[in-house]
Amino acid sequence: MSITTPPTSDESGLDAEPAKTGTVEIWDENNLVAEESAAQATPEVAPMTEKEIRKSKGAHFVTIFWLGAFHVGALLALNPAYFSWEALALGFFMYWLSGSVGICLGFHRYLTHRGFKTSRFMHYFFAFVGGLAGEGSALAWIANHRKHHAHSDQDGDPHTPDHGGWWSHMNWLGWVIHGPELEDHFKKWAPDLLADKGIRLLDQLFLPIHIVVIGATMASGYFYGAAIGKDPVTMMMSFLVWGVFVRMVWVLHITWAVNSIGHMWGYRNYETRDHSTNSWLVGLLAFGEGWHNNHHAYPRMAVHGHKWWEIDLTYALIRLLRLCGLVWNVVDYKTISEKKARDKSSQETSKTSTKK
Ligand SMILES: [Zn+2]
Ligand SMILES: [Zn+2]
Repeated sequence: MSITTPPTSDESGLDAEPAKTGTVEIWDENNLVAEESAAQATPEVAPMTEKEIRKSKGAHFVTIFWLGAFHVGALLALNPAYFSWEALALGFFMYWLSGSVGICLGFHRYLTHRGFKTSRFMHYFFAFVGGLAGEGSALAWIANHRKHHAHSDQDGDPHTPDHGGWWSHMNWLGWVIHGPELEDHFKKWAPDLLADKGIRLLDQLFLPIHIVVIGATMASGYFYGAAIGKDPVTMMMSFLVWGVFVRMVWVLHITWAVNSIGHMWGYRNYETRDHSTNSWLVGLLAFGEGWHNNHHAYPRMAVHGHKWWEIDLTYALIRLLRLCGLVWNVVDYKTISEKKARDKSSQETSKTSTKK
């Protein structure tokens, strides 16, 4: 299989050339460059890795409890009494809604990398739905992910497998940035979202929203059970176990697999400065996010499957939304030159057909 090196361009950050030194332009901010320059200015100081820095600041027990509680709750699925096909269908729907629409399309391709434009309503809709995955608010998720791109598989990466496979998969979340440093972390990595009052509100309401959604899920199960003549409490528990606990743990581990498996195992289409890989398993389960090497090569590109057989369900959804007029200016090209050439040839085609 041939491996290509993405082209360098001075036309626009859209080319997102994964340089051997320097930073990747992943959304539209100059502060990424500023950090690299500062790091280069003090080479004599032995830098601590991101893992060492985070470990030195202590664990974040709220996050550990939050993630642990869903895993313990998911164990209730071992009780067959709590299984129902209706709850399984709800779990599948929420897996798609929170995983593909919320995390892959909303948090990742739109809010982190600005791979397309949309209306104010859809902007908040994507931020809201992404929050339902339980992976933190848009603000928290995006700040970490942008930092990952800027330092992928280097010392400053929040979750590189170079610091351990389990660290990259989930353990890093036990040491998320918290306390007084959090504001600076947001200012540096997500100033656009920090300045957005609606996004800040969703960040503050992260827990209350989950309490309401979980309560509504349980109430739906109870009333649905009563309506079809089954035990309402058992149906309520079934909705809670499969629609919330199992679904959430499933989506969490699939998202985390992008960070762990997506930097350890698989094949590469592009020569990037990190160890990112494309994985069939993660590609399918994570709705196209598993073509992670393609993504690191061209971070702003909304298309993650670059070969015809690299199925990308999230991009299929973006195309559908574009067709409906709900999103536009989709970055479906690798470079500005590619876009210009494509625009030119489509103009020529339309001129020829007009003459005929
Ligand atoms: Zn990555
Ligand atoms: Zn990304």
